[in-house]
Amino acid sequence: MATATAPKRKTSRSHQTKMLIDGKWRDAVSGKTFATYNPATEEEIAQVAEGEAADIDLAVKAARKAFDSGPWRKMDARDRGRLINKLADLIELNIDELAALETLDNGKPIAESRNADLPLVIDCLRYYAGWADKIHGQTIPVRGNYFCYTRKEPVGVAGQIIPWNFPMLMVAWKWGPALAAGCTIVMKPAEQTPLSCLRMGELALEAGFPEGVINIVPGFGETAGGALVDHPGVDKVAFTGSTEVGKIIMRNAANSLKRVTLELGGKSPNIVFADADLDAAVDGAMLGLYLNQGQCCCAGSRLFVEDKVYDATIEKLARKASARKLGDPFDPTTEQGPQVDKTQFDKILGYIESGKQQGAKCVTGGERFGEKGYFIKPTIFSEVKDEMTIAREEIFGPVLQVLRFKDIEEVVKRANTTDYGLAAAVWTRDIGKAHGIANRIRAGTVWVNCYDVFDAAAPFGGFKQSGMGRELGEKALDNYTELKTVTVAMD
Ligand code: NAP
Ligand code: MG
Repeated sequence: MATATAPKRKTSRSHQTKMLIDGKWRDAVSGKTFATYNPATEEEIAQVAEGEAADIDLAVKAARKAFDSGPWRKMDARDRGRLINKLADLIELNIDELAALETLDNGKPIAESRNADLPLVIDCLRYYAGWADKIHGQTIPVRGNYFCYTRKEPVGVAGQIIPWNFPMLMVAWKWGPALAAGCTIVMKPAEQTPLSCLRMGELALEAGFPEGVINIVPGFGETAGGALVDHPGVDKVAFTGSTEVGKIIMRNAANSLKRVTLELGGKSPNIVFADADLDAAVDGAMLGLYLNQGQCCCAGSRLFVEDKVYDATIEKLARKASARKLGDPFDPTTEQGPQVDKTQFDKILGYIESGKQQGAKCVTGGERFGEKGYFIKPTIFSEVKDEMTIAREEIFGPVLQVLRFKDIEEVVKRANTTDYGLAAAVWTRDIGKAHGIANRIRAGTVWVNCYDVFDAAAPFGGFKQSGMGRELGEKALDNYTELKTVTVAMD
């Protein structure tokens, strides 16, 4: 995965730290700023404009104006597609700089930001650029002498609130379908990782998006995020983050009946049968949990392993986990960087303590790595029981729970005994068993003999408390369109 030459640690240019409103970079109305940190060194990177209700109001008004009366509304769909493609081209042109910025602000290893996140960002934007001129309704043969057709119209101003785990990729997942559909946007990036989103705003201006189409207001959840959800000028809210905040957002959005889509947490089961290719399953379990320091909503954090191969699997996992290379995220050979911030770091260490106290066996890891930066050693718990806190709650860190099972009925039942339903995986050489389980697991994505295979064309989202609606694919366009039925009396 490592790149041949290590991308530069710091970008040659200074960071954009203002907010983007109506095509201009501005300070917060209050003049306030907040710090964003490098989680590998705990040092401040920059002070960023702190948006609050007054800034959200300006941004929504700009987005409203751009939607209701700006050139965007009248632009041919094909030209909208060209703009989205232009943005993707500019990101590709600046890929090393953007990857370095992502690594600086989030802590993820440069090999991942450069070779996984950024290519997925570009792919996602190009995929939706292709949709821009292919969003259309139907003609419907109704009773009587009428001509009836449907139109798919943009829903309007989209308020988008994103988390810190895949900062730029979340921007692409949100902007792609919204822009393809013809919406305008007010985005609030996560307080921990505002920089790459702001840089994408600069590139969007360079690409030529009309003013007000994309607005970015960095700030905190309860103030900036809350004001966006409450604002009457916003037609739709799209949120990715914790289930807890997802519930607050849905409740608050109900006051004005905004359209809401939510992509929330998970506690995804990863099921390994004795007839699986065990080495492939172990690699899949490693990727499924440790990717991105374990900070993935779809992390395979409940690894169910069939009794017969349980001990062999634990042994293989422990060897791989303890050999993982932690450290400077700018080293192209680093496999694991720091957690995003101290809050997450402390929370994860708390879960590790609870695992130990509740009787799970800590096979490897179980403590911080080094003295500086929010690094946590890859941790594996064996002999985990379903009722333990670490088997039920989302840890969002490099902590793997390995559970033992004996037969299919039992494991399907246990895998589904969770309030979440984002993803799952099954490892077996028996194709009938694989499909059978894929049908019975209550989750939005099921991987068979693989994990974390993402594609802009494949829908992603949760059953149960893992969310509402789907992102990616053609399906995500529905999040940003309203369906209009037109009926015409004919002579
Ligand atoms: P979070 O609070 O759900 O944050 C996600 C986004 O929502 C951020 O932009 C946040 O702003 C904003 N927000 C927070 N409270 C809000 C409110 N009342 N109204 C509107 N927006 C609000 O997640 P977190 O605190 O960063 O992480 C906590 C846990 O959430 C993690 O440990 C993990 O379990 C889960 N999580 C899940 C995902 C996912 O991909 N599904 C991603 C990240 C975290 P701030 O930046 O100011 O908080
Ligand atoms: Mg940061």
